[in-house]
Amino acid sequence: MTDQTVNYLIIVGPQGAGKGTQAAAVAPELSLEHVATGDLFRTILKSESELGDEVRKYYDQGALVPDELTIRVLFAHIERLQEEKPSLSGVLLDGFPRNAAQAASLDEALAERGESISAVVLIDVPRDELMKRLTGRLVCSSCGATFHREFNAPSKEGICDKCGGELFQRSDDTPEAVEKRLGIYYEQTEPILDHYREQGVLVTIDGNREIDTVAQDILLSLKERVSN
Ligand SMILES: [Zn+2]
Repeated sequence: MTDQTVNYLIIVGPQGAGKGTQAAAVAPELSLEHVATGDLFRTILKSESELGDEVRKYYDQGALVPDELTIRVLFAHIERLQEEKPSLSGVLLDGFPRNAAQAASLDEALAERGESISAVVLIDVPRDELMKRLTGRLVCSSCGATFHREFNAPSKEGICDKCGGELFQRSDDTPEAVEKRLGIYYEQTEPILDHYREQGVLVTIDGNREIDTVAQDILLSLKERVSN
């Protein structure tokens, strides 16, 4: 075990794997803070701070935020968390790094601080199962309630149980749209997994089981990797 003060963990998984649900479930159990980069950026954009101004410049131009800036935002947030929560044992990063270049930048930034990644958790779900999960969603055109063809089917096909409205499939949930999103994920994420596998920090969890079983498995696998 290292003697660094913060454990850096990363959770990775395709859309539909239940990554957000699992992160929220296991982080408190390990005294980790779940840090979703998307939420972090939304918060900082609303804030009056120098970092917020820097990030806003890129957002206003519709440009990507450079990795170096993302990492500064992350560390500023982590330092604030450490001050606010002295019992914090670490962070569970969600949404960053997203590709191999970002993983390398993060490694470098951590090395400069004498720190490193403690573990990377991959929630692994077969692609055909993801397709089933992601393309089955139905939304009510009147009240916005959501159903699932297989896992939460309405009692009458095509009709909302709550208000009798008509159900439809969103354009991002069509098989073509889902295939495309998953394709991008696999293309960008495989190299990250190789990167962390080589470092011996990758933990693969079978995500094709009940939510609670998956959470227990993650906890068991991570306990020994989080030092206090
Ligand atoms: Zn409805």
